[in-house]
Amino acid sequence: MRLDRIDAIDTAPAAWPSHGLEALGACPVCDHAGREPLLADLRDLVFGIGPGTWTLWRCTACGAGYLDPRPDRATIGLAYAGYYTQEAALTPGRVSAARTRRLARRNAYLNQRWGYALAPALTGPVHLPPIQQRRADRVVRSLPAARAGERLLDVGCGNGAWLDLMRAGGWAVWGVEPDAQSAARAAELGLSVVPDLLTAPFPDQHFDAITLNHVIEHLHDPGAALARCYALLKPGGRLWIATPNLDALGRVRFGPAWRGLETPRHLVLYTASSLRGILAAAGFESIERLPPTDPARGMFLESARIARARRLTWLARARVKWQAWRADRRVSRAPECAEESVVVAVRGSFGEMR
Ligand SMILES: [Zn+2]
Repeated sequence: MRLDRIDAIDTAPAAWPSHGLEALGACPVCDHAGREPLLADLRDLVFGIGPGTWTLWRCTACGAGYLDPRPDRATIGLAYAGYYTQEAALTPGRVSAARTRRLARRNAYLNQRWGYALAPALTGPVHLPPIQQRRADRVVRSLPAARAGERLLDVGCGNGAWLDLMRAGGWAVWGVEPDAQSAARAAELGLSVVPDLLTAPFPDQHFDAITLNHVIEHLHDPGAALARCYALLKPGGRLWIATPNLDALGRVRFGPAWRGLETPRHLVLYTASSLRGILAAAGFESIERLPPTDPARGMFLESARIARARRLTWLARARVKWQAWRADRRVSRAPECAEESVVVAVRGSFGEMR
């Protein structure tokens, strides 16, 4: 079943300021002008912060989706007031014994697999089921523990909680965060944070790894951002990206209520092939799509709640969980339909000769 309408949404239909709209006319990923409307009358159903209604177009060349018109750089902040990354890094409260044991198992796996020295950790070898291994790998974004002096940059680091973890894993860490409040939270952790990737005063070939966790879909000029990442990486350096997948089964199932749309903060939504294409255009090599880590359940439950604009009854939750279980079965055979894409790419060893 497809949802073609959304019940009882109580967000205000105010318009985005007209002076803050930017028209594109062509795909921001591949510059092709051919396109089809994919979803119209989209609103900020996730946080109800950003005013306006929006159209998502699908590029007929590369398959990416993009808002047009969209908020311009000067006014996009209207859609971020009170955004969730401004929360302070979670301070651990009372943690149950079962949770501590799970954490100790996960840390033991990460220490064994990637060379970290995270605590608390079980002693002796641990064997996690494959899905739990992939989830644990995602915690460190498939980065091994740093050798002496290795540098990591997280673009869109939010409150810095993840960089704080990686610093404990031996990395020398820096962050990029345009939101002043989030950057201030990160600074409270003693992290070095700059506001803008393109103008950040880092020398070329400075970093061993750069990560963008659910960030590239927020960027006005993703090609320029990836070109800067390429320049900042040492030859052989790794780029890690996670982003919602436009071809996700959840997007087809929930349409305008799909959690991954997050209009108007998500300006561009990628398919597996359009993400690969924009990375290759920036010069990256060895572009590898990692297997999905998260079952569809979380995205499906959030999307169903958005579609109904209220909490789900236990019966509705049970039905959505069953649909998500079926979606996961399909994704195991067709990973290009997963709810998110996670990709690792490498700056080639001879990149300095380009
Ligand atoms: Zn395109």
